Amino acid sequence: MSLSQQKLNTSIEYLKGVGPARAQILRKELGIYTFADLLYYFPFRYVDKTKFYTINQITSETTYIQLKGRITHLEELGEKYKKRLLATFEDDTGQIQLIWFKGIRWIKNNLKSNVNYVIFGKPNFYKGSVNIPHPDYEIEDVHTMHNRGKFEAVYSSSDHLRRVGFNSKGFNKLFSNLFEIIKAPDIIDNIPETIRQRFQLIKRFDALQYIHLPNEQHQIKQAQRRLKFEELFILQIKILSVKIDRQNSIKGLAMPNINTLFTNFYKQQLPFELTNAQKRVLKEIRNDILSGLQMNRLLQGDVGSGKTIVSLMSMLMAIENHYQATLMAPTEILAQQHYATLKKMLSGTKVCVEILTGSIKGKRRNVILERLVSGEIDILVGTHALLEKGVKFCKLGMIIIDEQHRFGVAQRARLIAHGQRPHILVMTATPIPRTLAMTVYGDLDVSIIDELPPGREAIKTVHFKEYERDKMLHIVHKALESKQQVFVIYPLIYESAKLDYKALEEGFESIRNIFPGPKYTVDMLHGKMKTVEKEAAMNRFSKGKTHILVSTTVVEVGVDVPNASVMVIESAERFGLSQLHQLRGRVGRGNSASYCILMTGSKLSYEANERMRIMSESNDGFLIAETDLNLRGPGEIEGTLQSGHIILSIANLKTDKAILKVARQTAMDLLKKDPLLKQPENLGLKQFMQFKFKESKRWGRIA
Ligand code: ADP
Ligand code: MG
Repeated sequence: MSLSQQKLNTSIEYLKGVGPARAQILRKELGIYTFADLLYYFPFRYVDKTKFYTINQITSETTYIQLKGRITHLEELGEKYKKRLLATFEDDTGQIQLIWFKGIRWIKNNLKSNVNYVIFGKPNFYKGSVNIPHPDYEIEDVHTMHNRGKFEAVYSSSDHLRRVGFNSKGFNKLFSNLFEIIKAPDIIDNIPETIRQRFQLIKRFDALQYIHLPNEQHQIKQAQRRLKFEELFILQIKILSVKIDRQNSIKGLAMPNINTLFTNFYKQQLPFELTNAQKRVLKEIRNDILSGLQMNRLLQGDVGSGKTIVSLMSMLMAIENHYQATLMAPTEILAQQHYATLKKMLSGTKVCVEILTGSIKGKRRNVILERLVSGEIDILVGTHALLEKGVKFCKLGMIIIDEQHRFGVAQRARLIAHGQRPHILVMTATPIPRTLAMTVYGDLDVSIIDELPPGREAIKTVHFKEYERDKMLHIVHKALESKQQVFVIYPLIYESAKLDYKALEEGFESIRNIFPGPKYTVDMLHGKMKTVEKEAAMNRFSKGKTHILVSTTVVEVGVDVPNASVMVIESAERFGLSQLHQLRGRVGRGNSASYCILMTGSKLSYEANERMRIMSESNDGFLIAETDLNLRGPGEIEGTLQSGHIILSIANLKTDKAILKVARQTAMDLLKKDPLLKQPENLGLKQFMQFKFKESKRWGRIA
C-alpha cells in the first residue's frame, strides 16, 4: 500500500472531532470506517449562503432564504407544552415572524434588539403571514468576521448521530478537519488523464473537496459530474472485468452438433412458425455455445412473446450433444406448467423430461435423483428444489432460469456450481430498463424478443373506478357468455395480509353471488392454500372447468391459459406498473379479443393515476419498464440494485442515464486495450481497484 493509501485508510477514530466512541457510531450508522469512507459520504443538497434576500422577495416558492435585519419585538406565548417564542424580524422591506418551540429560555436571553442579524431558514406560510421556524441566526458583524457566506453542504443524519453532535453542521466541521489533513497528492486519480480530458472532468481531489466544501455553484456542478462519472465508470470496470475474466478463464462446453433431434423437432414437432425475433435469439444462443466460451445470456421478452419454445430448443441443442439440461422456475405452478408443455411438445421424441419440486419427496424423489445422476433424464424441470444438496446431474450442459427477477444472484451462482461450467440462459418477462440491465446484469449478454407471435389481438386495457363496477361486470358477463374465462386478481401485501385476505374472500363471495352456480363455477386461489390445492385449482381453471378464478398474484408469473380473455385487477392502484403489466400478460394468449380491467378507488394519487393511464395506453413492456423507473421512488430501484450488490452513492440511474452510457462505453474501450490495466496511464485506476476491491480475486493481487 502506498503512503497516500495508508493515509486514506486511517481509521476514522483518529480524525479530529471523532474519537473511539463516536467512531463506533459512524461505523454502525453509516459504515464509515476510514478517511476514505468519510470522503465518499456525500451531501444530498446545498444551501446557498452567498446571497441575501429581502423580506418582500419571499414567495410561496421560496425554500431556504438568508436575510439581514433586526429584531423588534419578542414575545412568549402559550402554556406548558404549547409554549413558543415569537420574534418580529424586520428589514427595510417588511416584517416576518421567527418562531421557536424549543430552547425558548436560552434563545430569549440571547437575542438582542437593535443589533443587525443574519438569519437563515425555511419560510412557512401560515394564515397569510410568513414565519421561519427555528432559523439559524448570527450577529451580522460576527458573520462578516468569520467570512461566512458560501455554499453549505447538507448531510443526512440520524437521531443517534445527532445525539453525538453529528448533525449536518457537525459533518461540515468534520470535513473541514479532514481537508486539513488530506491534500491533493493523497488522492491519486482513478480516472486516467486522457479520459478526464476528453470528458472535461475535474481531478478527483478537487471534486472531493468541492463536493464537501464548495465556494461557488459551478464547483458543485463540476464535482457532481466528475463523481457520478467516477462511480459509474468504476462500477463498469468492475462488472466488465468479471466478464472478461470469465471469457478468458472459463472455457465453454463444446456443443458442435446439430443433427436429427433438433431438425426433426423444427420440421415436424413445432406447432407454429417461429417469429423472426425467436429465430434471431436462437441463432445468438447457437453462436454462444459454438464459440468455445461459456454462454451467459439474459433473454428479455415481453409476456407472451414465446420464450418457452426458445428455451426448449436451446435445451435440445445441449441434448443433441449428449448433455443434460435443466429449466428452473420460481413457483411450483409454473414449473408444473413448463413440465406439461415440454412433455407435450416432446412427445414422440426420445427426450426424457422429468420434474422435481419441493412437494416431490421420499421414494419418488430418490428415483428421480438416481435417474438424473445416471444420465437417463435429459431435461429436469423444477423449482428451488433443484438447488438442494443431493441433486446431482450426470452431465449438465445447460441451465435455463425462467423469470430471473425472482432469483437472487447468489442462487444463480449456486446453480452454476452444479455443473462443470454449463451454459446459462436467464429469461425474464420483466423488461429491465437498459440502465438497470447495464448495471445489475452488466456481466450478461442480452438478447431481446421484441415481437409477439402473429395473430394476437392486443389486449384492451380499461380503467374503471369503483362507481363504474357495473361496466366491469358487463364485460365479464359477455366473456362468460362467449365461453371465455376470467381472472379476478386481488392484491396481497405482506403488511396488510389479514385485511387483504378478507377483501379476497369477500370478493370471491360477491362474484359467486353475481355469477351463481350451477351455471357458473367460481374458484379461489391464494398462497395460504396447500400446494396440492393450489395445483388442483389451477388445473381446473386451465382445463376450463372453472369459469372465474378469484386469486392473489400467485398467478402472476408465466401461467398460460389461452382461453382466459378477461383479467380484472382489483385495487389496481396498489400495484406497481411492472407488476400490472405482468398480470395483464396472463390474458390475451388465445385468439379472441381480451380485456384487462383496472378497478380502483375514486380518489387516486397523481402517480397512481399515471400508472393507470400508461397501462391503458401502452402494451409495450419496455416503455412501461422505463416509465416505471421514472415514476417509482428511488427506494425500489435501489432494492433491485442492492440485490445485485450494487449501491450507488451519488449517481442516479433515473437521471444519469447519459453519463452511464458514456462511462460504460469508456470502460469497455479501456479494457479492450488494456484488460489488466498494465499501462502506466492506468496505474491510478488499477491501484484504486486493488484498494477498493481487496477481496476480489482479480484485484486483490498486489501488483
Ligand atoms: P412467455 O414469453 O411469456 O414465456 P410463452 O412461451 O408462454 O410466452 O408463449 C406464449 C404462448 O405463445 C404459448 O401458448 C406459445 O405456445 C405461443 N407461441 C410461442 N411462440 C409462438 C409462435 N412463434 N407462433 C405462435 N404461437 C407461439
Ligand atoms: Mg414464460
